[in-house]
Amino acid sequence: MNYISTRDSSGDSSELSYCDVLLQGLAPDRGLYVPIAYPRLSDSDFHRLANLPYPALFREVKGLFIGDAIDVKTQTNLAQQAYTKDKFPGVINDNYCPVTEIVDGLYVQQLSLGPTAAFKDMALQPLGQDMQYVLSQRGESLTLLGATSGDTGSAAEAAVKGLANITLFMLSPEVGMSSFQKAQMGNLSGGNIFNISIPGRFDDCQDIVKAIKQDPEFAHLGAVNSINWGRIASQIPYYVSGYLQVAADHIGQPVDFVVPTGNFGNVLAGYYARKLGVPIRRLIVATNENDVLHTLIQTGMYQKPDHAVVTSSPSMDITVASNYERLVYDLFNGDTEKVRQYMEQFERTGSVAFADFGLSNDTLKAMDFDSTRSTSSDRIDAIRWVHAQSGTVIDPHTADGVTAARQKQEKDVPIICMSTALPVKFETTIKEALGFVPEREPRFADIETLSAGGFNTIPNNPEDVKAFIRQHLG
Ligand SMILES: *Cc1c(COP(=O)(O)O)cnc(C)c1O
Repeated sequence: MNYISTRDSSGDSSELSYCDVLLQGLAPDRGLYVPIAYPRLSDSDFHRLANLPYPALFREVKGLFIGDAIDVKTQTNLAQQAYTKDKFPGVINDNYCPVTEIVDGLYVQQLSLGPTAAFKDMALQPLGQDMQYVLSQRGESLTLLGATSGDTGSAAEAAVKGLANITLFMLSPEVGMSSFQKAQMGNLSGGNIFNISIPGRFDDCQDIVKAIKQDPEFAHLGAVNSINWGRIASQIPYYVSGYLQVAADHIGQPVDFVVPTGNFGNVLAGYYARKLGVPIRRLIVATNENDVLHTLIQTGMYQKPDHAVVTSSPSMDITVASNYERLVYDLFNGDTEKVRQYMEQFERTGSVAFADFGLSNDTLKAMDFDSTRSTSSDRIDAIRWVHAQSGTVIDPHTADGVTAARQKQEKDVPIICMSTALPVKFETTIKEALGFVPEREPRFADIETLSAGGFNTIPNNPEDVKAFIRQHLG
């Protein structure tokens, strides 16, 4: 299994292995890596996978995208190190992504049982293990630089904490994160983890990361955001598992998935699961007030707003959906020159239409994508509704999804909504909806007061951050 860049201009000569793309993040031509082919799962594969514990299912499905770049025995070890009872304390019977029926035919798939209580753990835990393995094989080390608006920071830190060949510098804004999220990161500081607090907003952090990576001295720094193929490959298996939990006795039964989406990472994994042969009928993108993807799916226009709106589902407050480029590659049937032109027009002007590239405005709907946009009051309603139906407390991002699921559910087709965070991270909104805060598991009970407070506050400019990185890399 090999990979090329979505903007590749050099033909087959530039194919890379899973291990290469894992360490690279963005391609040098600024495209994203995509597999050159898609395997297919057969009915007998599905029947076999249905009986496996999640780490084994994960290994098999993800292994399709690793090929012989890592031997099977090592893949198995890496999967077992990523998914442990220690890191995922709520897991029962080795099911790391359990599905629950809320009302007839409407399901929620829990992806947030990991160490930082957001679905990003499902992909970042294996990503950290894979990176450490490849680096130690090659006798290399890697410095990662990232920016977070909330969940990515702690999930990435929990994934690489203590790994010998990796150092992580994570920028977070002073404005916009919850005290719970800050405390999660503060507790992970030390050793190979450096938390940098920027007096400013998330946009400022992102701008600094971009500026630093443009400096040749720092161009080799790796990325942990969802453009890394290793993350996408690690998300595809939970769609297979979710499908089998609902339809194992009726393989072939179509289902719909609803995915609360920001960067188009999670839903892209669902799209690839469908390409593998999982009978997914519709992929429904649930946005909040930041509705770039909703507009795109409904009208064929991809348009960048001036800035993101701050909402009560903050991990989806984005203006650009970085992973969408991988879908564009398929829309143009792998014509990398067209992908480049389309993306460059977007980057230059902030707006691009399918019509300008000979595609119908309905292209995404014709591919069975659908979408909704929900508001703050929709989220409150959804949290109340799920609680009333089932006694379960969902978080505001999952509430964007449930809002979509209720609107889009059709008779005789199960609909599965991805649950992307635990409510404990967003107590204010839960209190507003239900009048009480969700019960805290012991591991989170005193998190704010436990916080090691390990943040280095650095002025809002790239040069000071570079100086800090230089000093700590020695
Ligand atoms: C990151 C995140 C999302 C968005 O995921 P994408 O892969 O960017 O679409 C949704 N919900 C939560 C809680 C998140 O942390």
